[in-house]
Amino acid sequence: MLDPKNFHYVSADITAWIDKYLNQITSFPVKSQVRPGEILEKLPRQAPAQSESLDQIMKDLDEIILPGITHWQHPNFHGYFPANNSVESILAEFITAAIGAQCMIWDTSPAAAELEQRMMEWLREAMGLPSGMEGVIQDSASSASLAALLTAREVATGFSSNQDGISGKLRVYCSSEAHSSIEKAMGICGMGRNNLVKVGVDEQLRLLPGQLERLIIADLAADYIPCAVVATMGTTGTVSVDPLKEIAQVCEKYDLWLHVDGAFAGTALMLPEYRWMSEGMERVDSFVFNPHKWMFTNFDCSVFFVKNPQLLIRTFEILPEYLKTKTRGTVNDYRDWGVPLGRRFRALKLWFVMRSMGLTEIRETLRKHIRLNDLFANEMGRREEFELLLPPFLNFTCFRMKPDGNSDEATSNRLNEKLLEAINGRGHIFLTHTRISGLFALRIMFGQTYVEQVHVELALEEIFRVAELVR
Ligand SMILES: *Cc1c(COP(=O)(O)O)cnc(C)c1O
Repeated sequence: MLDPKNFHYVSADITAWIDKYLNQITSFPVKSQVRPGEILEKLPRQAPAQSESLDQIMKDLDEIILPGITHWQHPNFHGYFPANNSVESILAEFITAAIGAQCMIWDTSPAAAELEQRMMEWLREAMGLPSGMEGVIQDSASSASLAALLTAREVATGFSSNQDGISGKLRVYCSSEAHSSIEKAMGICGMGRNNLVKVGVDEQLRLLPGQLERLIIADLAADYIPCAVVATMGTTGTVSVDPLKEIAQVCEKYDLWLHVDGAFAGTALMLPEYRWMSEGMERVDSFVFNPHKWMFTNFDCSVFFVKNPQLLIRTFEILPEYLKTKTRGTVNDYRDWGVPLGRRFRALKLWFVMRSMGLTEIRETLRKHIRLNDLFANEMGRREEFELLLPPFLNFTCFRMKPDGNSDEATSNRLNEKLLEAINGRGHIFLTHTRISGLFALRIMFGQTYVEQVHVELALEEIFRVAELVR
């Protein structure tokens, strides 16, 4: 074990490694090209009995681990949603590890609780959220949505389900495009996956509020208990935004919990020109978005806002003797705001990011990503052999190679699958896919922190070149 007295010397090697990694990241293939089991074969079957030097470990990091890494911070990474970071966030994470505090309650680190509270207020203000909402940091949007549904369940059953288990057939509604974490949460919280009612969508894949209301009415007639609606602000497949205002009116009418999953696109509320997405937010009970996706804060950092934290606390509070404190009730003990007891000091990296960038640079960078995407979509839209499957939105475009005149849907799907595989196999850029009404479509995102116009140009060139090869 190293002596902290030597930290200065050994950490210099690690920071030099990080420096090199960040500045030479484009020398790696974006997507790892290893086959299943390849890394495992190179790892000893047993833990070493004797101490090994950091030098030995770092050598294996380069030789064994790095080839098996897909480089999410590569500016040519355009897959899934981003999980971007920034130098400030990396440094704060370093410090968080050094402090190593367990931030379960105010007493276990008052600064962590109070910094978290203030960061949530900064974000609420910067995103134009209703002034009454209060926030808490969670590990992921999946956990936040689970916390929302557990709370909705308690509210719908008069806070009896935690004690007695669920009785009655509770129903939750979301669109067919909602994230799989909602379905997962339905199973975990005991309401049951079959009681998640999937509402249909319009041609832009947005939830149909009229159909939502009809499904609720039918459920009431069949003695179900409607409990909650989950609206998505930016679906994972195509970044569609459900019409919140109309959904909120339905929730008001039937007295239902309204949770908004804005894991990715919620960040765009930082930009006043996208605040139309949050129209109706006054009626929303809970809202989640991930600074660890598109706000320069390394994974994990998910921000969960609720209208009434007392409902959350009543759902999660449990008070063993060893956690009883004198400050209880006068401060925020965030362990009562979600599932885990132990909590990392995640507010620190948000503080570093928001202070060192300032709202102005955060907004400018988001707008830059949106402009880069427009550039891509314009060029792609002009090409004869390609088509955009939806209008480009935020920093996201969905496109595919057009089928030639007489080929059927299956053939054209196969062609686009082949295109995607060939692109990712070359390692210059990385894209992922979705399906829209059965059509295989390629997705591209411009959300890595340091992405620039040259990377848009490279993506276009690469896609057009590979398209020639697979046709
Ligand atoms: C990414 C995503 C999630 C899951 O986020 P985690 O933080 O990884 O749990 C949930 N919902 C939507 C809409 C997403 O895009």
